[in-house]
Amino acid sequence: MMTINQDLFERAQRHIPGGVNSPVRAFRSVGGTPCFFERASGARVWDADGREFIDYVGSWGPMIVGHTHPDVVQAVCEAAAKGLSFGAPTAREVEMADLLTTLIPSMDMVRLTSSGTEATMSAIRLARGFTGRSKIIKFEGCYHGHSDSLLVKAGSGALTFGQPSSAGVPPELAAHTLVLDYNQPQQLIDCFKQYGDQIAAVIVEPVVGNMNLIAPLPEFLQTMRDVCTQYGAVLIFDEVMTGFRVALGGAQALYGITPDLSTFGKVIGGGMPVGAFGGRGDIMAHLAPLGAVYQAGTLSGNPVAVAAGLATLKLIQAPGFHQRLGEVTGKFVHGLTDVAAKHGVAFSAQHVGGMFGLYFRNQVPQNYAQVMECDVAAFNRFFHGMLDAGVYFAPSAFEAGFVSAAHGDAEIAATLEKAEQVFANW
Ligand code: PMP
Repeated sequence: MMTINQDLFERAQRHIPGGVNSPVRAFRSVGGTPCFFERASGARVWDADGREFIDYVGSWGPMIVGHTHPDVVQAVCEAAAKGLSFGAPTAREVEMADLLTTLIPSMDMVRLTSSGTEATMSAIRLARGFTGRSKIIKFEGCYHGHSDSLLVKAGSGALTFGQPSSAGVPPELAAHTLVLDYNQPQQLIDCFKQYGDQIAAVIVEPVVGNMNLIAPLPEFLQTMRDVCTQYGAVLIFDEVMTGFRVALGGAQALYGITPDLSTFGKVIGGGMPVGAFGGRGDIMAHLAPLGAVYQAGTLSGNPVAVAAGLATLKLIQAPGFHQRLGEVTGKFVHGLTDVAAKHGVAFSAQHVGGMFGLYFRNQVPQNYAQVMECDVAAFNRFFHGMLDAGVYFAPSAFEAGFVSAAHGDAEIAATLEKAEQVFANW
């Protein structure tokens, strides 16, 4: 007999490409039927078949205070009752801008969007408009949303022009994107020597969460800052994932590097569609209506979405919030490493604050090539074993995971117990 999930997935595939509205949800890399979720609370989610899971995806990062936190739900309900959208400014947006620029001192000004993709796409356009240059540098394995200039992978070898990583991206446009290896400062120096006066921006995930988790070598980020300053290129930290998660001030606070522009999403919307980009006042002044770089959005600064974001940002400013989140995530990661070691499984793991990486490989990877050495079949086996036992991880070996403030000792202990069973039958 078909489960409700299977029935829904079959129906979904009739009228939605692949049955999903964002590709990774389709379980293509792990196989099987995606869970159609019905409700969530704290660290837990329930699917259409009534199965309960401890959730380590958290909507891919936004749910940092846990699902359906009463303060956030109340803020959303109150805002919704007063109007779903005006397409005109509201006081809440001013409050949000004041708060974001206070918590992220590198931002003099900020503009809200409705997704992380819009934030990074707009930051790139702004950097190009500001510098009058066309080329950008990104790093292989980093994901910055699905705009044309950023859906680009490395050509053959470092220091080649990028190639589209999606059909439909004109090669002429991809050629403006230079793709380098993450954590290789010398490549940045060499690239700027060759193309420095043509480079508008370097965009980077300061901690990568889109090729599993890769932590930056400190000299990598510092070199990036130095060459951008030297050549007048705009340094963009894409903190859509790391912002307000790895530390209250994001990765830029954690590593002590000041970018020129930053992009945010996920946590600042608390589960509602909010993105943001901001930074140096002299750069942001080039945005319409002040300047010549155009960017806009019918639902930008949406009152209900911003209310969810403000309520979430209020909660995460509680003293010790990020320290506790990091400690719980650390317990989880170390516990899992110990369980795997006990059963002789080739496994390693690490975390940066409340985000983590699990690798079916003996050592924690430092770049894209090393991540690609992970045993995907082993991950898939682990994923399904844990799913069957009631733990929901990202359905791909190449995604970071997320812990929320609603995860405590009980959730971690239960997860490790289930992992023990899975590894015991390895
Ligand atoms: N940048 C980073 C670092 C991301 O992780 C993501 C989404 N996972 C994006 C940009 C795009 O954000 P969105 O999915 O909200 O468009």
